[in-house]
Amino acid sequence: MGVYTTINPATGQTVATFEEISDAELQEVLAQSAAAYRSWRNTSKAERREILTRVAQHHRDNAEELAGLLTLEMGKPIAQARGEVELSAQIYQYYADNLEKFTADEPLDISGPGTAVVRTEPIGPLIGVMPWNFPYYQVARFAAPNIALGNTVVIKHARNCPQSALAIEKTLTDAGLPDGVYQNAFISSKQVADAIADRRIQGVSLTGSERAGAAVAEVAGRNLKKCVLELGGSDPLIVLEDADLDAAAKAAAANRLFNAGQACTATKRFLAHTSIYDAFVEKLVEHLSAFEPSDPTNPDTKMGPLSSTSAAEEIDELVGTAVSAGARVLLEGGAVEGDGVFYRPTLLTDVGPEMDVYREEIFGPAGVVHRFETVDEAIEVANDSPYGLAASVFTEDMDQAQYVAESLETGMVWINGTSKSAPDLPFGGVKRSGFGRELAHFGFNEFANKKLVRNP
Ligand code: NDP
Repeated sequence: MGVYTTINPATGQTVATFEEISDAELQEVLAQSAAAYRSWRNTSKAERREILTRVAQHHRDNAEELAGLLTLEMGKPIAQARGEVELSAQIYQYYADNLEKFTADEPLDISGPGTAVVRTEPIGPLIGVMPWNFPYYQVARFAAPNIALGNTVVIKHARNCPQSALAIEKTLTDAGLPDGVYQNAFISSKQVADAIADRRIQGVSLTGSERAGAAVAEVAGRNLKKCVLELGGSDPLIVLEDADLDAAAKAAAANRLFNAGQACTATKRFLAHTSIYDAFVEKLVEHLSAFEPSDPTNPDTKMGPLSSTSAAEEIDELVGTAVSAGARVLLEGGAVEGDGVFYRPTLLTDVGPEMDVYREEIFGPAGVVHRFETVDEAIEVANDSPYGLAASVFTEDMDQAQYVAESLETGMVWINGTSKSAPDLPFGGVKRSGFGRELAHFGFNEFANKKLVRNP
């Protein structure tokens, strides 16, 4: 059987190892989820609201311990780790506050006699497959709305953040969530497939790579299970000629390097109008250079290590092959020698469609700048991507901003800003960035039975 392991990416040290559970133990987990569902779905809304409020409070009460685990396991700077704990608390609180509203009956305006009402009911036990880049926040996006609704969840977390995975389970249990409503399971990909196929499981949500998303969607499809996928992104940031360049460059660098660049909604492609291209690039390089990777436990650190050595190798490969094929380096970064996986920001230009870096997601502190002459050309390059998650446009002209927003093939667009998640903003993409939405009432409805009750 495989293992889940905490390796501190700032030092390279292996800190703790956890065994995967057996197939028989997985069966117990699924049975418990199904049993818990039968009672949890019938608890009062007031009780669910109270427990979720306590979950939010427990995140805040244990914020230092929870944040420390993120820093230890995936190298998130402690200040950002505290921010993630707080955002997760806000998500649990948001669904506590809104669960009455989101489950209220919706009377339909019908043509015939009698009444027709749509109820919002749970559908049953669900599987959540989670990544390591935001270990608490990603779980909160899935678990909070579904627990509020009355579903139960089994979480298969990424194998490099087992202690964070256990800490979430403990936080929810300590807050009074009944046994079986939320369960962490250290399982393999094969066991994920078995669980999805199990007749008791009604759906699956995955955040992660395209490869993992395709594997899970295939099993879900074969077994006719509802599936929500939140996959990668290669988000463009378009700077028009009238934009506030200081604001655009500062926001672009901060967004690219938040979480050491390991975010699906990080800006990875910068598109600047030819008239301001040189000025923008100069400012962007200046802002990117200000992020020196360092000790993530220091509260002043803005960028820590990458999550793993393989993450650094993947970026090196993408950057290296692009440079060999003619890409020009505007900011030379790369791996810092030593035991930790520290990686300096890198910026490329002269990148063409023949290069992998043109279309693949760079999951770390490297980016690409393109020059454009017309707004339509910028939109064409922005849309020339297999992904469609988020995008940004910087301009003082709101008509142009709206035109760009309408023309972009993405699930989210930010005007004069960069993507920032909040409980009440729907999150998700189109194309190979996945399907379905998380957060807000959209996320609440993904695994709901919108049941029609017609009384003629
Ligand atoms: P993965 O997609 O491999 O991991 C995410 C989760 O999916 C983990 O829990 C992983 O489990 C699980 N998983 C992987 N393969 C399968 C499968 N066949 N069936 C079921 N579950 C599976 O991401 P990586 O950590 O390998 O990162 C690789 C790339 O993925 C990144 O470089 C980035 O491009 C993208 N990514 C995107 C994220 C996002 O936020 N959209 C988040 C993380 C990664 P296990 O850990 O056991 O492999």
